[in-house]
Amino acid sequence: MAHEHDHDHEHDHDHGHDEAAVDEEARAEAEADARRRLALAQIRQYGDPALRLKAHEVAEFDDDLHRLVDRMVALMHDAQGIGLAATQVGVLRRLFVFQPDPNEDARVIVNPVISERDDETASDEEGCLSLQGVRVPVDRAVHVVLEGKDAHGEDLRLELDDYAARIVQHELDHLDGVLIIDRTNDEHRKEALGILRPRAVIG
Ligand SMILES: [Zn+2]
Repeated sequence: MAHEHDHDHEHDHDHGHDEAAVDEEARAEAEADARRRLALAQIRQYGDPALRLKAHEVAEFDDDLHRLVDRMVALMHDAQGIGLAATQVGVLRRLFVFQPDPNEDARVIVNPVISERDDETASDEEGCLSLQGVRVPVDRAVHVVLEGKDAHGEDLRLELDDYAARIVQHELDHLDGVLIIDRTNDEHRKEALGILRPRAVIG
């Protein structure tokens, strides 16, 4: 899942900030941009068949799985996303990483299931690292209980509300080959498909 950038670090050009600090900030931003583009190039994009496949249960909680988790967390951070499912990196295994709060560590859940789901839903705009340039409103349950395993095979049970609940429903959809354009209304779907339609290449 992609997130809105918080451009709330206001630059005060009138006082303070010497030129070196501004240059430093501009370079850091350019580097973050370059890292984001590199990460997005490694994340499957709309039209890739892997995004439409159903992932399989994970049976082995081994080093191979841990390496995959590390890679997914790094990609999610570099891409400046708040969630990433294994299918988005072309791996058909049931796990995803997510980070609703930037001040807390990224979390991973393996073989996730939603065991409880509120009837109450809310609509909000969602983006997706695999559908760049698209934001569509999606209805989600505002409270869910997510159960599964951690990367070592230990039981995990998370009670999640609002934003965090939205993220895990989005990521769980990915493991079943479901995308936000399947969950939005006709009008927004049509608009999104217009953005995603591959441009004809001439010459
Ligand atoms: Zn997504």
